Amino acid sequence: MYHHVKQLMYTVRVDAPDPRFGTMLLEQFGGANGELAAAMQYSVQGINCDDPERKDLLMDIGTEELSHLEVIGVLTRMHLKPMKSNRSAAEADPLIAICGGGGVNLYNSMGSAWTADYLKITGEMDVDLRSNIAAESRAKITYERLMGFTDDKGTLDALQFLMTREITHMKAFTAALESLGKPEFSIGKLPPTPGVVDQYFNDSTGHGDRGEFDARGPWNQGGSWEFVPAPAFKQFRSAETGEREPIKLNGK
Ligand code: MN
Ligand code: MN
Repeated sequence: MYHHVKQLMYTVRVDAPDPRFGTMLLEQFGGANGELAAAMQYSVQGINCDDPERKDLLMDIGTEELSHLEVIGVLTRMHLKPMKSNRSAAEADPLIAICGGGGVNLYNSMGSAWTADYLKITGEMDVDLRSNIAAESRAKITYERLMGFTDDKGTLDALQFLMTREITHMKAFTAALESLGKPEFSIGKLPPTPGVVDQYFNDSTGHGDRGEFDARGPWNQGGSWEFVPAPAFKQFRSAETGEREPIKLNGK
């Protein structure tokens, strides 16, 4: 059950309203990596979760994100409010000024409507936790970029708080994923095909005009990696000679 307390999770202050910046802030209200998306993703994952420990985590963080939605909503509203009556402020976004009266609504910074398509909900705990870690990192970088576009002290203070909490959540989701004790790269129940799983296909080759080259690193060498040079060329060459060398599955 939900209950609203007439207090913000973090005190919001705006020293000088900036309607244009307000439209950018909408990204975190009704955007793909915004607070509503986070609140809904974790809360709905929580409803689907049969593991009472991870369920508690999802409901705790999902509910905190709703509190963030309120903080970013109030902050954004403070920046947009002059659009209701001031002509030059209204020019920052006529749609928000004329149809929305300088208020927030569930649209992103470009005026696209919020959609459930933003949410990643698979019903598989380890997969969902990986999605959540990625979601938190996207939310963090979005806040960081917003902070680069304002000098308003009060606004920066609130954004710093919201940005920090996303790192806190990323830490919690990472710890929860590790606590499942699943072997690395084990997703679901079916095992991958041995051999094929360790093949790295070098499908982009040659040297480019902007310094591009064939890089080697822990993602394609060492450990169990088998580096397979240009498999498409290999198939192309074998097509010329009439011999086919398809990618081998299970050594067949
Ligand atoms: Mn948040
Ligand atoms: Mn978060």
